[in-house]
Amino acid sequence: MNFQKLELNNRLKLSISELVDSGKLPHAIVIEGGSEDTRVKLARLLAASLVCPSSKNRPCTLCPACVNVFGGRSGSKKFAGEKLLAQKIQHPDISEFEKEKNRKQFSIKIVRDHIRKEAYIIPNGAGAKVFILLESHLMTTQAQNALLKILEEPPSYLCFILECTSKSLLLPTVLSRATCFSLGQLELGDGVRAKKMELAAQTAEEIALAITAPHEYELLKKTAVFEKNKNLLALCLPELELIVRDALVLQAAGKETFSAPSKAAEILAKDLSQVRLFKLIKEIRLLYEATLRNANNNLLITLTCSRLRV
Ligand SMILES: [Zn+2]
Repeated sequence: MNFQKLELNNRLKLSISELVDSGKLPHAIVIEGGSEDTRVKLARLLAASLVCPSSKNRPCTLCPACVNVFGGRSGSKKFAGEKLLAQKIQHPDISEFEKEKNRKQFSIKIVRDHIRKEAYIIPNGAGAKVFILLESHLMTTQAQNALLKILEEPPSYLCFILECTSKSLLLPTVLSRATCFSLGQLELGDGVRAKKMELAAQTAEEIALAITAPHEYELLKKTAVFEKNKNLLALCLPELELIVRDALVLQAAGKETFSAPSKAAEILAKDLSQVRLFKLIKEIRLLYEATLRNANNNLLITLTCSRLRV
């Protein structure tokens, strides 16, 4: 499987491989964090997996559909990872959209005149049609709102892949309709960052458990760790959001989550209503945005305690 050769963490690789193998890739995907190279490669590999007719190991990189994506000769066994960035994709059912060359932002014009028009033209040969939106963090609010209309009710064959530096630059309404693959944890060139991410994931798990604990004191106790480690809160909140999202998926679909669901996700799914889980995601995102704005740390901790336990 080609995803194994990308610089992704094992948890994400496993989730993606499972989704691809089972043919259950969501219809809207956001790829954020990590390096631009990796994000684009992942977007193109996912797109190729959707148009490749092979029954296993999609994308096979060998069939005519894959050759249109990866270039090279049919039957070549070499991993086409490098080529994935070097060339334009030739497959008729995969389109890439990006901001106009002479502009700084990705305007509504592209969504209105191209994306929305092409969305309703049925696929040429493949069972699916994939739109990759490069640098989607540069989309204006108007462009995102226009995109939302298709994201809400997409034709069944259509899949959107939004490549962006950070999901915080996309509207919550757009994000709520997409599954996010965060590569942020993966720039693990240094062990220090890996350790920090591990601590953030563990703290997020403890906080998620404290949200449903009988006593409010639990959450106060767990958030005390942020008093001396301000950066940890910013790292922890996206992890916490993932747990809550897993809980939502668990509620909706039984046991099929994007990642192996944690104990905390299972408890949240059991103890909280869907409405409450959606509200939690909203609160977590507001808190995260506040950390990006460099809000006062003590205030943030107080807010974290009061907002997450309503
Ligand atoms: Zn193939």
